[in-house]
Amino acid sequence: MAYAYTRQLQYPVKNYTVNGLKFGVHGIYDGVDWGEHLGEDIICPVDTPVVSIGRGHIVYAALHPGSNVKGNWGNVVIIAYKHPVSRMLFYAVYGHLGAVVKTKGARVDMGEMIGRVGGSNTTENGWWPVEHVHFGIYVGMWDGKVFPGYYDVKQKRTVREDWVCPHEFINTYGDHRIKKQKI
Ligand SMILES: [Zn+2]
Repeated sequence: MAYAYTRQLQYPVKNYTVNGLKFGVHGIYDGVDWGEHLGEDIICPVDTPVVSIGRGHIVYAALHPGSNVKGNWGNVVIIAYKHPVSRMLFYAVYGHLGAVVKTKGARVDMGEMIGRVGGSNTTENGWWPVEHVHFGIYVGMWDGKVFPGYYDVKQKRTVREDWVCPHEFINTYGDHRIKKQKI
């Protein structure tokens, strides 16, 4: 018997293409290895609308300003979701947003705009030269703190296995019948 789930997810931006740093690839900046990239970078122009991938609620929204010395999240939003069939709880991370139009605690529908892509080398985009959105999917237990964007084995800020490839997760969302997807 086929599983006909009506609930699906959509991509956070139109024309979703991983034209920036891919998931699991090491980010190396000025010769320093920040570790494995825990999301996908989608390069798109400033003010591109960023939407919620499903129906969920915003559990974190804050500005983590970067500087010309070191990049950071800029505006970052974390949304909690639950799969309607498996009841799997998971989180999506949207980083480097300019204008954020939602606040912590807000309920959002699939496709509802949460913000726009930030401009290059601004506080809001975390001081990155290339305008992009960082999009990550976390399937582990969340401790309420902002997620890192990279997995550094030395820092132990997060568990690598709790992160999954974002576009694969969205593309196979209807197949999720287990609590946690391992990669
Ligand atoms: Zn990124």
